[in-house]
Parts: sequence; structure tokens; C-alpha cells
Amino acid sequence: MRIDIMTLFPEMCERVLGESVIGRARRNGIVEVNCHNIRDYTADKHRRVDDIPYGGGHGMLMKPEPVSACFDAIARQCGSRPLLVYMSPKGRVFNQNIARELMDYDNICLLCGHYEGIDQRVIDSMVDMEISVGDYVLTGGELPALIVADAVCRMVPGVLADNVCFEDESHYGGLLEHPQYTRPPEWRGMAVPDELISGHHANIAKWKRAKSLEQTAKYRPDLLEKAELTDEERRLLKHR
Ligand code: SAM
Repeated sequence: MRIDIMTLFPEMCERVLGESVIGRARRNGIVEVNCHNIRDYTADKHRRVDDIPYGGGHGMLMKPEPVSACFDAIARQCGSRPLLVYMSPKGRVFNQNIARELMDYDNICLLCGHYEGIDQRVIDSMVDMEISVGDYVLTGGELPALIVADAVCRMVPGVLADNVCFEDESHYGGLLEHPQYTRPPEWRGMAVPDELISGHHANIAKWKRAKSLEQTAKYRPDLLEKAELTDEERRLLKHR
């Protein structure tokens, strides 16, 4: 999996992507993530990347030429055209299913807007998908791109110790994860549930599934509509 990030602030992305699990996976060559400075692809002496919007309005807009030159250079490096994803508050709201969808591509390019955004002609003629990280507006697409890169990279085989690490987690199977506990067995008068220390694998699995359903019903009941549940589970939830 190769991810390229096009941004005016590559250091901001590099800083985050050099740390922790993703940083280690990059150093071990399990995933390739590159950050490109769009400003390096300007053709004028002032290295200008933005201009005033036609028709007036506040703020500046990113110009199309440096963005397309940067993308063309990345496509040449990849040897084929990557999927171009524009981080945008107008896009599909990001979730685990979209992260899994992106796993189908060998090369993804994440385009970060800044200021008032990017000239619409880039979006109309080059962008394959627009992704939002939620219904609010940020100053730039860097944080959203880092979120997408992290969510996708951690599902690449070898990044985490085992696929179970993410398959068992919230959202992957459509439910929220069950609560988890570690040592000590008792803390501030609160004990770890008996089932988890019983050593009885079937009972532990049953407890985890029940708690996962309980947490989902409590925090995100909307998820239950689409979740794959047995008739018995649906009946239990109805009579909670
Ligand atoms: N004028 C734009 C609008 O009203 O839709 C907002 C521009 S925003 C200040 C600057 C850049 O931040 C956008 O081009 C986009 O790349 C990024 N951005 C802001 N909010 C975002 C969100 N919720 N999801 C993804 N990207 C976002």
C-alpha cells in the first residue's frame, strides 16, 4: 500500500506519520507514505499557490496548476494513476467501511485543501472521491488526511500484530467493542468481571458479544439497524 499526501504543510504530516505504529510500519517498509509539498510544483518566482476567488468572497483559493503538477509527478513515480481523494467538508463522511474500500487500491493520493479550499476545476476534472471527517470545518485537510491514512494503514497486514487486533474492534463488524480491563484485578473497589478471569473461553466469548451489543445499544443504537444479529440477540435487545 502506498499513500501520497499532497499538502502545503508536509512537515505537519511527517511529524505525525513518523510516530508510533504507523511510523514503525513505514520504517519497516510495510506501508509507504510520502508527503509532498504542493508549493514545490509552482512555476513562478514567488512560488504562489493561492489567489483571490472570482466573484469576490473572503480568503484565498488554492490554484489548480501546482496541484495538477504535483499529482502528475506522483503518478509518474507510482507508474500508474493513484486514486485521488480530496479531503473536503462536502465529502462522504468517513467511516470504517470507507477505510476498507480504500484498501482495494494499491496507490491512494490524499489532497489537502487550505484557506478557502481548491479551485473547483481540480475537483471536477481530477478528483475521484471526496471524504469529510465530519460536519464541521477545519483550517486544512492535513488532519483529515492523517486520520484517513492512519485508519487505512493499520489494516494493512503486518502493521498490527494480528488482523484480529482491528477485526475485533469497534465498527469493523458493525458493533462497538466490549469493555476491556487489565491488571490489577481490583481498583478503587471495582473488580474485573468474573467472566473475564474465569478462563472459560466460550463464556468469555459470550460475555464479550453481550457487552458489545449492550455498548452499541447504549452509545450508538443507530448501528444496530444494519448489524448482523441473531433472532435471539434482536429479541434480547428488544427486552432490555
Ligand atoms: N470553503 C470550504 C467550504 O465551506 O466547504 C471550506 C474550506 S476549509 C477552511 C479548508 C480545507 O480544509 C478544505 O479545502 C479541506 O481540504 C479541509 N477541510 C476542512 N474541513 C474538513 C472536513 N470536515 N473534512 C475534510 N476536510 C476538511
